[in-house]
Amino acid sequence: MKYFSLNNIAPKTTFKDAVIKGLAPDKGLYFPEHIQKLPQSFFESIDSKSDVEIAFHAIKEFVGSDIPQEILKSIIEDTLSFDFPVVTLDDHISTLELFHGPTMAFKDVGARFMARCLGYFNSENKNDVTVLVATSGDTGGAVANGFLGVKGVNVVILYPSGKVSDIQEKQLTTLGQNITALEVDGVFDDCQDMVKKAFLDTDLTSKMQLTSANSINVARWLPQMFYFLFAYKQLYKTHKNIVFSIPSGNFGNICAGIMAQQLGLPIKHFIASNNANNVVSEYLKTGTYKPKSSIQTISNAMDVGNPSNFIRIQELYGHNFETLTSNLSAYSFSDDETKEAMKSLYRNYNYIADPHGAVGYLGCKTYLENHPKAHTVFLETAHPTKFLDVVEEVIPTQIPLPKQILEVIDKPKVSIKISNYNDLKSVLLK
Ligand SMILES: *Cc1c(COP(=O)(O)O)cnc(C)c1O
Repeated sequence: MKYFSLNNIAPKTTFKDAVIKGLAPDKGLYFPEHIQKLPQSFFESIDSKSDVEIAFHAIKEFVGSDIPQEILKSIIEDTLSFDFPVVTLDDHISTLELFHGPTMAFKDVGARFMARCLGYFNSENKNDVTVLVATSGDTGGAVANGFLGVKGVNVVILYPSGKVSDIQEKQLTTLGQNITALEVDGVFDDCQDMVKKAFLDTDLTSKMQLTSANSINVARWLPQMFYFLFAYKQLYKTHKNIVFSIPSGNFGNICAGIMAQQLGLPIKHFIASNNANNVVSEYLKTGTYKPKSSIQTISNAMDVGNPSNFIRIQELYGHNFETLTSNLSAYSFSDDETKEAMKSLYRNYNYIADPHGAVGYLGCKTYLENHPKAHTVFLETAHPTKFLDVVEEVIPTQIPLPKQILEVIDKPKVSIKISNYNDLKSVLLK
């Protein structure tokens, strides 16, 4: 399988090279040259297959010959070492829980898969690779955990001091081994700017192999297709016409769902559920795509003003506005509506959702107003205890901390404080 750049200037490349580079040299996102549909019989007998088998068949064409099939299978087995349960709330609404992994947000699957692919590609290489990431919260934890102990790969994470939740900070700073946490005196944008500067610094890149692990990397994006197949497997006997509502920020997760649809998975419709960051819902209304600066909300992993993966969705629907709008709806919700949704989920179903999942639930409710027969599934992208301050303010109950959180909460934090690019460079070159 070859990948081309959506900017169409850089040459086509392999899966391996696309994973190592992250972004194409012309700054475009990589996209697979073709998408091979799975046979209909695959979907008709999906409940006789294990999650690992399903995932293997979904992704094998995209990896091609760059990873031998037996090794790819074991990478998938390692990646999927937890459950993806669907919880049905009523005849028209279910939720797919994607928070049972080690850092309790859906990014675990992409990070774990990418880490293992990179570990494999680097196994013959004598020089270590350094993965450099800036995080506003969830990405750093998932990447740190996913890459922990992977040979030949060092991970350096930059996070804004005092701007991530206590639990998120623990998930970044307590692992040790090949993970280094840099606590930046600044905001997320400062972290991001330093990372960008490092990638362009030839003095640095001539001395070390730098890689990024953000959501534009094909190895983080594509495994998210699995979720939609796993949900279908659990629901298809009881519900036809499944509609997914995806709490969206950079639109990587929803775009992976559309990829699963292109593999032949019968998904009726997609709902992009957004907080106040409404570039896409405005675009679907007006036909004009206007990126904005991001607005801070209680569902902060979706505070994105210019979603980087939206261009892939355009590609998937042939850059045709009508095809796009017939397959995708997008709605935007305020923080107050989100809090109300958390309350009503708790009151009506005894279900505790995190703010991101609650935005997804609101997407279902809005869609059902005009499509009362549909069965909608919202993705619950993080465990509610990751956003404890918001959840405890809204829901009148104490939530027991899950074991993944208890494991890190009392470990000592280890971080290196930095305040500028020179500090970063001297840490990297040490
Ligand atoms: C990253 C994240 C999202 C947004 O996912 P995208 O793929 O960027 O659209 C939603 N919810 C949570 C909890 C996240 O961490």
